[in-house]
Amino acid sequence: MGKQEDFVLRALEERDVRFVRLWFTDVLGFLKSVAVAPAELEGAFTEGIGFDGSAIEGFARVYEADMLAKPDPSTFQILPWRGDGPSTARMFCDIVMPDGSPSYADPRFVLKRTLGAAADKGFTFYTHPEIEFYLFKDTPEAGSDPVPVDRSGYFDHTAQSHGSDFRREAITMLEAMGISVEFSHHEGGPGQQEIDLRYADALSTADNIMTFRTVVREVALSQGIWATFMPKPFTTHPGSGMHTHVSLFEGDRNAFFEAGSEYQLSRTGRQFIAGILTHAAEITCVTNQWVNSYKRLIGGGEAPSYICWGHNNRSAMVRVPMYKPNKGQSTRIELRTIDAACNPYLAFAVILAAGMKGIEEEYELPRETEDDVWSLTERERKMLGIQPLPKTLYESIQVAENSELLAETLGEHVYDYFLRNKRAEWESYRGQVSAWERDQMLPVI
Ligand code: GLN
Ligand code: MG
Ligand code: MG
Ligand code: MG
Repeated sequence: MGKQEDFVLRALEERDVRFVRLWFTDVLGFLKSVAVAPAELEGAFTEGIGFDGSAIEGFARVYEADMLAKPDPSTFQILPWRGDGPSTARMFCDIVMPDGSPSYADPRFVLKRTLGAAADKGFTFYTHPEIEFYLFKDTPEAGSDPVPVDRSGYFDHTAQSHGSDFRREAITMLEAMGISVEFSHHEGGPGQQEIDLRYADALSTADNIMTFRTVVREVALSQGIWATFMPKPFTTHPGSGMHTHVSLFEGDRNAFFEAGSEYQLSRTGRQFIAGILTHAAEITCVTNQWVNSYKRLIGGGEAPSYICWGHNNRSAMVRVPMYKPNKGQSTRIELRTIDAACNPYLAFAVILAAGMKGIEEEYELPRETEDDVWSLTERERKMLGIQPLPKTLYESIQVAENSELLAETLGEHVYDYFLRNKRAEWESYRGQVSAWERDQMLPVI
């Protein structure tokens, strides 16, 4: 047993831990958890804890169901919302097969494999997410409209607003779990919040996002309110995205930075953006995985709907932020499509794979879009060669079905399962008759 495992075993005694939650993520990005007694941990570290993989979304077929969850000791944290007294801890797990090989169904493994391929070329992938979500007064009830906790807007500082109390408590908890928060503020919609995590390597960020969603929901429950990462809960208010700033490092050097070049962006950085744009439509199915995700990408509300890039252009899908003139090591690009209801492991894997493709194949970066793309006419956009993002989950699935990049990155098992699941979601949705249709038709037809 290694040093980190020893550290965990000691911490269990010193901190009087009674339960250890072993966390992992299903293919759709839902957190799974099994609680074990501390005495089980030594075995968990060496062999893993067995579970029935066929009961987890996307994991296995019934006849190959036995899987093992192996905790990653570097992710050990005490859960701060469990109060005083004996404590509860958690660790993220890697999923392995009975022969010890990694499970191809494990999203964490999909990301690790993609990070490994980039590491072979000398790159480390860093990500920094801006996570948006809504706070509602009550637990949602079928058929009733959610009521936001406040009526504030972007950056509003409102006395006695529920949002700032909420953010303070959520951030304190995140920091207690080793997750650094860089910014937080009220977002544009009523009750809408944003919390931005400090940049970290993509695997830690993906783990942190899983923790974040849990912490935010727990804090909301404890305050008698409800938090949601649903991409577009209201027709008339902006959706919730998860803009993600990404960069590649070669050792200590930011590989996107080149002093003196346009926007101080290196050739590698330009090729990475070109990769994202070239494969944008293919990866959207993963970065925006729900029927509802596409209601956010309709244009307006600062969510993108066209495949283009620009510096300081908030209508663009990829933006090169220009906050500081000499940003050097902090040079990065911001991807604005992705929403917080994605599976962060799979989403980061496909983003990285698309960018790496751009570097490997030396894609040329098209000209930047300086205009507000939404205000251009269809014709103008055509002339500029600006393509739309998929407009529905259905369009996204169709592009994804023909994507080699996606099949390769997700691996055959996850790719097949994912698309099967998404087709089923679309089929279920397209049969639904909505209030909008009745309102439009009943009075006149
Ligand atoms: N809420 C917007 C979106 O859905 C982003 C708004 C912002 O951060 N400027 O992407
Ligand atoms: Mg922001
Ligand atoms: Mg925002
Ligand atoms: Mg942003």
